[in-house]
Amino acid sequence: MKKGTSESTKKRLLQKTLDGLDASRRAPRSFLVLMLLIHAVTSVTIPQISRAQTVVTLWGMQIPVAAFAGVVSSLGNICLIMLAVFCGKLGFFAAFIVLLAQFPMLAVNILRSHAYNSIPGIFSNILTLIAIVIIYVNIRQTEKYQDRIRNQAVTDSLTGIPNRFACSELLVSLVEQGKKFVAASIDLNNFKSINDSMGFGTGNEALKVIASRWKAIADGGLSGTLDFIARLSGDEFALVIRDYDSEEEVLNTIRQYMNVLCEKLTIDNCDFYVSASFGYAEYPTDSNKMDNLISYADAAMLEAKRSGNSDLIVRFTRDLLKEEHTLEIEKKIHAALENDGIFFQLQPQYDMNQKLRGFEALARMRDEEGKLISPGEFIPVAEKVGLIDKIDVTVFRKAAAFFGKLLRKTNADITLSVNVSVRHLMKNDFLQETREVLERNGIPTKNLEVEITESVMIDSAERALQCINSLKEMGVQIAIDDFGTGYSSLSYLNSFPADLLKIDKSFVDKMNDSDSMRQYVAAIISMGHIMGFDVISEGVEQQQQMETLQSIHCDFIQGFLWGRPLSAEDAEKVAMDNAEKFR
Ligand code: C2E
Ligand code: MG
Ligand code: MG
Repeated sequence: MKKGTSESTKKRLLQKTLDGLDASRRAPRSFLVLMLLIHAVTSVTIPQISRAQTVVTLWGMQIPVAAFAGVVSSLGNICLIMLAVFCGKLGFFAAFIVLLAQFPMLAVNILRSHAYNSIPGIFSNILTLIAIVIIYVNIRQTEKYQDRIRNQAVTDSLTGIPNRFACSELLVSLVEQGKKFVAASIDLNNFKSINDSMGFGTGNEALKVIASRWKAIADGGLSGTLDFIARLSGDEFALVIRDYDSEEEVLNTIRQYMNVLCEKLTIDNCDFYVSASFGYAEYPTDSNKMDNLISYADAAMLEAKRSGNSDLIVRFTRDLLKEEHTLEIEKKIHAALENDGIFFQLQPQYDMNQKLRGFEALARMRDEEGKLISPGEFIPVAEKVGLIDKIDVTVFRKAAAFFGKLLRKTNADITLSVNVSVRHLMKNDFLQETREVLERNGIPTKNLEVEITESVMIDSAERALQCINSLKEMGVQIAIDDFGTGYSSLSYLNSFPADLLKIDKSFVDKMNDSDSMRQYVAAIISMGHIMGFDVISEGVEQQQQMETLQSIHCDFIQGFLWGRPLSAEDAEKVAMDNAEKFR
């Protein structure tokens, strides 16, 4: 069993921090040796100097050499004081022993040689001794306070286990060492409900008990691996696992932390149980960057939480990132729906003479920071999580409010095309809502077009088809969007009540690559015409594409060549100018 503990790691971390902070005060060993050496030299030379009969001339003054004995003695004492100040415990004891050892020597000197001039030296030694003891006691006191402060800096005050700072210090040093380790993220399940129902006091007690159980495993080395447990915040903990040989060992360790939660908690005579979600990522397999590793472990933990299975331990996989991203976008969609962050742009559609046919309303989204999120990102998520109908309705209402006024201003017979998801189509109130919006904004039904993607058209249930038929009966136009990307059979298409086929951009892109591709697009257009549909090509970007489409009798085009998606203001200008031109 390996005895690796959060306690010992904490001490090591503390020591590391301490060493860093004390680096300025701790002098190197060579300094200690130098001071002792100077002191030894002074001790040896003092008796000779004090006995010297010679005189030196300094600044024109005749000074007996013996008078310098006091100066040399002070120099020796300063060396000892320096030891106490700069060389820690070792320096203090060295100075202390040297001073103590001098007393018998001085005493012998005085008694044997009657060198009474050494008596002041004894007093000087006593004073130096007192000075270094005071200095030492003082430094120890300050160190104790510093230790306490440092200890607080790496300890969670509620539970007494290492805190977030200690954890990130450890991770940084582990990453520096480059050895493999596992970072596990732990989050208690439904902890909020304990706080809410039993109060914060009980919640805190519960955290203390849980932390002490985990600390016992980590400090006791019970898991068989080298573990470090820390509380990051609230009910969030981190577990760092080292010294394992297989994934099985990692899972075993985590399971031990999981299992101690099965024991009931008794606080204030109340019994209850808690569980936690565990997810982990491994360095360097999953990531060699500390920040990524933590967020990957979090993503794995969230996945475990989402599963609702408190026995599940999730290891990070790349797929989880997609899941995370989806969640993030989903949150943004919710926020945008609440805060008016969904709006529309209008992309013009033209006939081949560049007469405006109408506009397609395209959803746009701004997040809370005002950043635009691309429809390619939020539309698929909205479809997946069932928010697309809300976006459809918002875009439809806003675009219709604008379009009604535009129709009156321009007096032109133009169409508003809106994208409708099958989810929206299937809603009970879809027809009613469409009718109301049209009436409220004074838009004739024939000036509205509903775009349904080909794939939706194929997969939709009977109810969706009934709905499309009802729209058609109301006079609303039906367009089949992204045509060519699905697999609708000709007979199905023939019976579908559409007015317009929208050829997908992917065909327009390839149309001029080969003659067969051009003929293929020409065939789609002819077929559409035979079935009684108009045909519009999407994503026309080049003049050459435009000319080809003209030559194969396409009816309308939509694309960046003649018009990008526009703000309502710009769309109004385009509509006014076009109406003027074709009046
Ligand atoms: P879509 O209905 O096929 O819309 C046409 C897309 O092609 C738009 O992309 C438009 O900006 C882009 N586009 C048009 N001309 C060109 C061009 O010449 N070059 C290029 N590169 N792109 C062009 P956007 O706005 O990103 O919308 C993507 C898709 O999101 C739409 O494809 C539609 O399926 C969906 N969508 C947009 N708004 C709504 C909405 O309100 N409701 C629903 N259900 N879906 C929407
Ligand atoms: Mg469309
Ligand atoms: Mg399309």
